[in-house]
Amino acid sequence: MTVSLVKFDGSLDSLRKAIELCSGFQKLGRNDRVLIKPNNCFRHKIMPPYGMVTTSWIVDGVIQLLLEHGCHDISIGEGAIIGIFDELAPYTKQGFKGTGIDKIAEKYGVTLLDFNQHPFRELDLGGVKIRVCRAALETDFLINIPVLKTHFQTKVSLGFKNLKGCLSQDSRKRFHMSGRLDTLICLLNDAIKSDLVVIDGIYMLEKGPETLAGTAYRKDLIIASPDIFECDVVGATIMGVDPAQVDYLKEFARRHGRSFDISAIQIKGEDIESLKEQLEWRFEPDKELLAPAKIAGLSAPHPGKTLCSACGATLALVLSILGKDNPGMDFGGVAFYYGLGLRAEREKREGTRPSPTKVVLYGDCAIRKNKSLQKNVTKRIPSHLREIADGRQLSAVSIEGCPPALTKTLLLLMKALLNKPRMFRMLLLRAIKLIGIRLGIYREIFPGWERYRSKEFDRSHF
Ligand code: SF4
Repeated sequence: MTVSLVKFDGSLDSLRKAIELCSGFQKLGRNDRVLIKPNNCFRHKIMPPYGMVTTSWIVDGVIQLLLEHGCHDISIGEGAIIGIFDELAPYTKQGFKGTGIDKIAEKYGVTLLDFNQHPFRELDLGGVKIRVCRAALETDFLINIPVLKTHFQTKVSLGFKNLKGCLSQDSRKRFHMSGRLDTLICLLNDAIKSDLVVIDGIYMLEKGPETLAGTAYRKDLIIASPDIFECDVVGATIMGVDPAQVDYLKEFARRHGRSFDISAIQIKGEDIESLKEQLEWRFEPDKELLAPAKIAGLSAPHPGKTLCSACGATLALVLSILGKDNPGMDFGGVAFYYGLGLRAEREKREGTRPSPTKVVLYGDCAIRKNKSLQKNVTKRIPSHLREIADGRQLSAVSIEGCPPALTKTLLLLMKALLNKPRMFRMLLLRAIKLIGIRLGIYREIFPGWERYRSKEFDRSHF
């Protein structure tokens, strides 16, 4: 098959060219039920959307081209991550609103589907039972529209990974907890077939998946193909990530006898060599989110692959807020544990992280794994933590939730980690800011976000 590489010039013609060059609509019938799956998984209105979520410009353009093709049964579907701010919040609806997709749906009379509210079908992926939104399984033509971005756990998040948004919330957690994240992403893409992938590269994101730790750049590129594997291989290559080192692509290549030889892929349009970047995908949450505020004595290492996106998103917000409100503070040896926390133990053994005096057990699985620490019973430190404690008093703060909600986490951390005057100051400051955000008279800005005031970051794309 063909992968097209087309420079985005702001016109619908650039998108049309990208789809035509790869014969993207060749198998699309006028009466087919078409489902568009953007990446609109997680977005809070304060966060810069660039490179993090699909632009509504591309979604709008795809719908216009579908209508030109004669299609009349078009839906846009997404299932946002829930539980970050408030269990009951209509996250998907808010996401559609935040990126302007709701207005596009209204303009063209297109149906919006919240996958979280739709029926699921149970599937067995290599022995792991998961639930997938039926709309994604039953549609006649699936158009998968991810963003051109890196990911700190899976290296890249493109077409393959975007389909994780079709899972029920419990299944997403199972993907991480099973310890087989990459295999399951690969198998999910056997179960759900993308008929056309359009990678939205108007912006690209380094150190993704979100813009708290990540940095977005303008790229002005559209990558399209009916072949999801080739499309992801080209997307990863352009970002400077070796696709042969992306575990789920590796697994897919092995299972389906596919090759990573880029010269064997028919690429039409721009010359791939001239588009290559060298984006970093790795980052340590504490170094990226706390170092700008010169915070010391607080360790939040890379979680490995067992931390779910929901916990990861809340954690990024929590650390950013903690750093911003307490610049220059030394927390005196606090270590965050999350997911299955194995990485933190290894780093301590290797001597790359200091011994903590306090452990924050962040989320239900970290609490379950470290049961005996919950009541500060230092005599009963579990064996895998004894080494970390170095025989010292080790106290623990448990933050329940799956994932823990943002406000509750902040309150518990303020109480556990700050002295009283500082805690009250932070409480007051946060309350005032929250009211300001709600009233629309205050905008929270985190380090690095100033760059998004530049003209190249065009809010009208969303
Ligand atoms: S506590 Fe967090 S990491 Fe653990 S299963 Fe729940 S969401 Fe996932």
